[in-house]
Amino acid sequence: MNGNGRTPLIVGNWKMNKTTGQAVVLAQDIANLHYRDYKTVETVLCPPFVDLKSVNGVLEYDRSALRLGAQDVFWEISGAYTGAISPEMLREVGCSYCIVGHSERRAYFGETDADVNRKVHALLRAGIVPIICVGEGLELRDAGDRQAESFILEQVEAALEGLNDRDVSTIVIAYEPIWAIGTGRTATPEQAQAVSVAIRACLGERCGWENARKLRILYGGSLKPENVALFVPMPDIDGGLIGGASLDARAFIDLMKAWL
Ligand code: PEP
Repeated sequence: MNGNGRTPLIVGNWKMNKTTGQAVVLAQDIANLHYRDYKTVETVLCPPFVDLKSVNGVLEYDRSALRLGAQDVFWEISGAYTGAISPEMLREVGCSYCIVGHSERRAYFGETDADVNRKVHALLRAGIVPIICVGEGLELRDAGDRQAESFILEQVEAALEGLNDRDVSTIVIAYEPIWAIGTGRTATPEQAQAVSVAIRACLGERCGWENARKLRILYGGSLKPENVALFVPMPDIDGGLIGGASLDARAFIDLMKAWL
């Protein structure tokens, strides 16, 4: 736990990388570097759908403390939704987390705030923790902190519509400025902290401070072992959502260890 009573969370988003054979090798490499005494940080691997079962097999065989997550989900339980994957399917294959609303899903697959909200409800019904991604584009950031923040808070409010206060305390929010994803350019730790404070304050007003204090907020966007130490001391940042660096076992574990 960090000084605020929250367990830091590190999530590796493998995106559309790794065939099943490659995913098994990467999961094994990460599991070999992940020792049992790394209990003070929760660590989640999010491979592509087709790799979930095999990666889960690696983690179970290893009796690893690493957790499994998916990169997306559909909100219906079952039915004629070609190509879609339900929360129940994710749960059965071993997922305890699922990313929703990643900016790449919003940009390339037209995912809307309303879709994100439906996914969040469906995941919670299935007992899977949603990791809700929010974040502004460069134009909004350049327009000023206030504009960027109000856009982000609108995304947060839309994603959480209709949830009860206690549910809100169990979800995870990842602040990922779009201009920092995969670009090598991070937000400054101060910017990320300010956005995290604004999100927590907004949720404190909406669902009570006790619940808002429990909710974890991650930063994502070009986090690397070389820059992570700047983000760790930020009191409202409770871990990271890692893209590129999660494909390198050593880099990913080094990132996680920074939060121990
Ligand atoms: C991401 O895709 O969520 C991400 C943060 O990517 P990267 O770490 O590569 O910027």
